Amino acid sequence: MKGQAWWNAILNIFFPENGICLFCLQKEKSAEYMGICTECADKILEISENEKVCPTCGYFTGGQECPNCRNLQFGTFAVGSVVPYEGMFRELIHDLKYNGREELARPLGYLMARRVKRLGMARNIRAVVPVPLYYSREEERGFNQSLLLAKAIAEDLGKPLWSEALSREHFHQPQMLLTREERLKNIMGAFKYSSDQQLSGKAILLVDDIITTGATLRACADVLRQAGAEQVYGITWAGGYNVKLLERIAGSWFYRERIKEKK
Ligand SMILES: [Zn+2]
Ligand SMILES: [Zn+2]
Repeated sequence: MKGQAWWNAILNIFFPENGICLFCLQKEKSAEYMGICTECADKILEISENEKVCPTCGYFTGGQECPNCRNLQFGTFAVGSVVPYEGMFRELIHDLKYNGREELARPLGYLMARRVKRLGMARNIRAVVPVPLYYSREEERGFNQSLLLAKAIAEDLGKPLWSEALSREHFHQPQMLLTREERLKNIMGAFKYSSDQQLSGKAILLVDDIITTGATLRACADVLRQAGAEQVYGITWAGGYNVKLLERIAGSWFYRERIKEKK
């Protein structure tokens, strides 16, 4: 292979889609990691690092009282997220979940792992555990997006992945018909620790794609703690947000570029 061919081969490793950064959709920028350029990685991580974020559940509060923590007792459980669940950030996770774009799991997982390190959660973690889907949903879709993200994160952090540590029970009636309290009660009883691994004294990192009310993650954390885990952390790609924050982010260049391209 000659010079240019080598360069293309290298670019293809980092940018599987012909050298295009999945975030700014520009070509041949400096490679940070699979499918994301250095500039985008830094800009995206700046959002969670510079904005006012709830230290307990990762909600982008913009300095207001956190609505999740007002409704739910997280205890010592702490969750971090990378970006607000809106705009291109929501689109990316939807592409992964519903459009089968599994190649997105690596760059998103990579950014999540960087956030975990930044929050100081990485040091004591013994294992990475994905939030399980309902069995039927996973069958339908063919994969669990949280597992794909957890795999990428575990690899990046150099920690073991316990992909089946948690299992999820079936709900017998459609959740939509239930009241908020009934739903919450169902979620709280929906998970089981189903591994032989001893948890006592260990810290676990839970992985989910998004956090909305936090009830799912909280239920998983409770199960892990009941099984002996000393500390449980959570990381999600996207979390709740404050509208003012979005107005600011919408002005940044990678956001505009992507919207332009989509039109
Ligand atoms: Zn980029
Ligand atoms: Zn909170």
